[in-house]
Amino acid sequence: MKEEIQAYDNVLALVGKTPIVKLSKATKELRGNFYGKVEAFSAGQSAKDRIAMHIIEAAEKKGILKPGSTIVETTSGNTGFSIAMVSAIKGYKCILSVSDKSSPDKIDMLRAMGATVYVCPANVAAEDPRSYYEVAKRVQQETPNSIYINQYFNELNTEAHYLSTGPEIWEQTGGKITHFVCCSGTGGTISGTARFLKEKNPNIQILGVDAYGSVLKKYHETGELDPNEIAPYKIEGLGKNLIPTATDFSVIDKFMKVTDKDAAQTARELARTEGLFLGYTSGAVLQATRQYAAEGAFDENSVVVMLFPDHGSRYMSKIYSDAWMEQQGFLDGEPKNEITYIK
Ligand code: PMP
Repeated sequence: MKEEIQAYDNVLALVGKTPIVKLSKATKELRGNFYGKVEAFSAGQSAKDRIAMHIIEAAEKKGILKPGSTIVETTSGNTGFSIAMVSAIKGYKCILSVSDKSSPDKIDMLRAMGATVYVCPANVAAEDPRSYYEVAKRVQQETPNSIYINQYFNELNTEAHYLSTGPEIWEQTGGKITHFVCCSGTGGTISGTARFLKEKNPNIQILGVDAYGSVLKKYHETGELDPNEIAPYKIEGLGKNLIPTATDFSVIDKFMKVTDKDAAQTARELARTEGLFLGYTSGAVLQATRQYAAEGAFDENSVVVMLFPDHGSRYMSKIYSDAWMEQQGFLDGEPKNEITYIK
């Protein structure tokens, strides 16, 4: 008798199609119904799998990429991981420039996936030749048979979420979603998802999350990039010091800023209360949701979907390290879980 082998062809079959999970303890003080879309369940453990697949497959269809080609990108880590994963399966070389703000864990993971990594200073202007934008551009120009993903200025980034994240959330909530809370970095996730959801129901509120030290919120409100807003901050992947064209500000209703400390403590709380071990920006999204709730954004009938971008394993040396939390002054008020060493 022939046995059926129940296997996927490769790991890329497991990109996207992530679940939504109802939150209870972490949101019990808030009015409304709260769900997390947990992107950590995608093959590469973040929302960036979706854009890596979509952009690479679009380039293949155009005949730009062939086996042996090189893919170059600027990334805070997650996009790099996803590109490296897709490259490993499809046979491309992968060169990534990352900010020195990225967790050492993230950088090691990229190398483990076979990528070549350039680590660049975070606190320089985007036009500085040392910035990760400029380094990636230069590497691409100098590497024959290569493409630059350019996620901040690539409409396919936004389109990936329009074609997958948006329809998934619409379906998973049976069209009942009333609010979508989402981080903005490149803006691809929030803009693509929002564009789809607003086409389905223009009343759905799209609530953005930004960081203190980033220009996005002010730009959304004034239409101007205010350089005085730019300051260093710790959260990786959220906010920006420039205006990415991948962001469609017209489909975002509001932005809320969160602090490094609140986001870090809230991410740790998500693990303890909901058993969801997620990244720094997932804490930022829940924290922003609480701040929106405090402004009266939701009522009993609200169906609020929060997008949780990535997995906690990428932050072991940061928010999940008590030593790092202590160094930042973020540990006060945090419960201390005892470790007992048996000798
Ligand atoms: N959270 C994390 C951890 C990220 O890496 C990113 C991507 N930079 C975001 C949130 C924001 O997603 P997007 O770039 O689609 O705005």
